[in-house]
Amino acid sequence: MTAQTIDGKAHADGLGARISGAIPSFREQTGRPPGLAVVLVGTDPASEVYVSSKGRMARKLGMASFEHILPEATTQQQLLDLIAQLNADDSVDGILVQLPLPAHLDSLPVIEAIDPAKDVDGLHPSSAGRLVSGLPGLVSCTPLGCLMLLRSQLGNLSGLDAVVVGRSILVGKPMAQLLLAENCTVSMAHSRTRDLPGKIRQADIVVAAAGQAEMIKGDWIKPGATVIDVGTSRIVRDGRKTLVGDVEFASACGVAGAITPVPGGVGPMTIMCLMHNTLLAACRRKALAEPR
Ligand code: NDP
Repeated sequence: MTAQTIDGKAHADGLGARISGAIPSFREQTGRPPGLAVVLVGTDPASEVYVSSKGRMARKLGMASFEHILPEATTQQQLLDLIAQLNADDSVDGILVQLPLPAHLDSLPVIEAIDPAKDVDGLHPSSAGRLVSGLPGLVSCTPLGCLMLLRSQLGNLSGLDAVVVGRSILVGKPMAQLLLAENCTVSMAHSRTRDLPGKIRQADIVVAAAGQAEMIKGDWIKPGATVIDVGTSRIVRDGRKTLVGDVEFASACGVAGAITPVPGGVGPMTIMCLMHNTLLAACRRKALAEPR
């Protein structure tokens, strides 16, 4: 068996087309585009790339992008003051603080200071609580993108056995909640899990978000399972730097029914779900019909 490759870029392009198609009507009704504010503190090169690509994508789709690049020496209070200013700014519908923050800053109070109605990264405790409670809210972009890929691949997920590897607040925990809400039977695995291969072999759906390069081998996977590989690790192979996932792609392809590649799987969906969340937050703030 050769697994079908799930093309995250094509799915993201489709979602992007629906988002940009909805923006003219938002502008007509409100007199302005949806607005995304991204805050970066310091000069971490990877974070700079992420922030500029988010801004570029927002503008490409017809949104307003407000990029706040603050010096490394920014104090906790200065950052909190900026969040308060963005919360009060009606032209800003979504606020994202690029993590990790420099070591002298405490990220939790900063995230808690974001108005939950503008929490497009879905990291506010109120967003997490609403997800657990089954209330409408904003869901973290990466698990939301994974769910969209799974729904489009499998249709109804009800009754399927799912394993989520990783229990971070950003990916693993919200992913498990989303799958539970789809009526999957969900196991969460982490670094203390016993017999991880045995757990994964039971699963119709595997979402791998451990950040461990090629840890999950083909013979751990149930034949025909759908595998969503969130992990991204840079390794050197044959003398060249290569980006790989948590799943050993070549061996998994011989067993799985469908699998996301790295790169080109979950990554493009993550950024597009940020755009989706920004439009969703904008529509909710203005009491307009939500995008589908
Ligand atoms: P974290 O480091 O916060 O969490 C990793 C999780 O994996 C932890 O719960 C940890 O368990 C678990 N874990 C670590 N090692 C093992 C192991 N050997 N076996 C089982 N579980 C293990 O990472 P994130 O959730 O932030 O990210 C996970 C990966 O996804 C990273 O590679 C990251 O780069 C990638 N990522 C990709 C995105 C994309 O858009 N493509 C977006 C976000 C993340 P424990 O809790 O016990 O320590």
